[in-house]
Amino acid sequence: MAARTILVTGGAGYIGAVMCEALREHGMQAVVLDNLSHGYRDAVPPGAVFVGGDVGDAAVVRELFARHAIDAVIHMAAYIEVGESMLAPRKYFDNNFARPLVLLEAMEGAGVRKFVLSSTAAVYGAPERVPIPEDAALRPLNPYGWSKLMLEQALAWHAAARGWRYAALRYFNAAGATERCGERHQPETHLIPLVLEAAAGEREAIAIFGSDYDTADGTCIRDYIHVRDLAEAHIVALRQLDEPASATADLAAHAWNIGNGQGFSVREVIAAAEKVCGRKIPTQLHPRRPGDPPALVASAAKLQAAGWRPRHTNLEEIIASAWHWKLRQPQGLAAGKPGSGKALSSPGA
Ligand code: UDP
Repeated sequence: MAARTILVTGGAGYIGAVMCEALREHGMQAVVLDNLSHGYRDAVPPGAVFVGGDVGDAAVVRELFARHAIDAVIHMAAYIEVGESMLAPRKYFDNNFARPLVLLEAMEGAGVRKFVLSSTAAVYGAPERVPIPEDAALRPLNPYGWSKLMLEQALAWHAAARGWRYAALRYFNAAGATERCGERHQPETHLIPLVLEAAAGEREAIAIFGSDYDTADGTCIRDYIHVRDLAEAHIVALRQLDEPASATADLAAHAWNIGNGQGFSVREVIAAAEKVCGRKIPTQLHPRRPGDPPALVASAAKLQAAGWRPRHTNLEEIIASAWHWKLRQPQGLAAGKPGSGKALSSPGA
């Protein structure tokens, strides 16, 4: 039997590249669609097919579905910066909501109706309680969270009205690295890689955005999940899509939190990184970052009941994987720009 082929949009990004590694290890073929606005061509693992282009480009996506027998789509191509979304909301609604509708149309034309969405814990806003279950109130605090929630809503109606199968995976904080793939956003805004830059002396200090939150040490609490465990959750979700299910537009029925179920404050992350790196990391207190909820911790009970078990639950281990990956990068991460200067290949290349 031919291997199942999965389209991974954003497969040249940090999580997308790890997703391709996981698909391959599970005997599936990955086709990557990425416009390289933030991804790197060289991050796409050998063996995956790379198509350069945008999910909102109807001609590109139609041709892709015509050329490849795609079984399901894992949609990871999105903008991810909360702070930027507060300043440029239209950019987020366009890229994270409007453009994927073009992809959905091409899927329907090709008869592909299985979809795994990279959604986000940002759909919950500032939750009343942590850990957060999937049926908690959905009240995003920023355009980033809204853009993802709107796509979840569009998919819910595709499920109810058109018989689509989809899973909205609400990521908490992806972190860590595999042997090959680690985090190299440009610009970097995420806590752990920035802490490691400070540890490596590439920046003077790590900024702590707010120390007056209603948490034990005053800094924000997040649930850090190893990127490979995150990718494995998609494999579980893909299997779920093969099972029959009732067509419902209820968002919670299709949603799956991916987190460790354990929260760490910004200061705890810095302390863990100091242990891993064996050095003191200078800090600077800054005002709160707009749009940041005080605490986001997952209840991952639903995913665990479906057979998913995170393997890297220890924060120091997660940080150590990122640190060792960083130390292996030859020219320092700051040097490489997204796209890595490689030309886009044509569909099917
Ligand atoms: N954070 C920080 N300093 C930084 C970057 C992030 O204090 O330089 C904080 C941020 O305010 C949040 C947490 O670290 O409370 C995690 O932020 P990140 O951007 O990594 O992920 P997010 O939770 O926004 O998806």
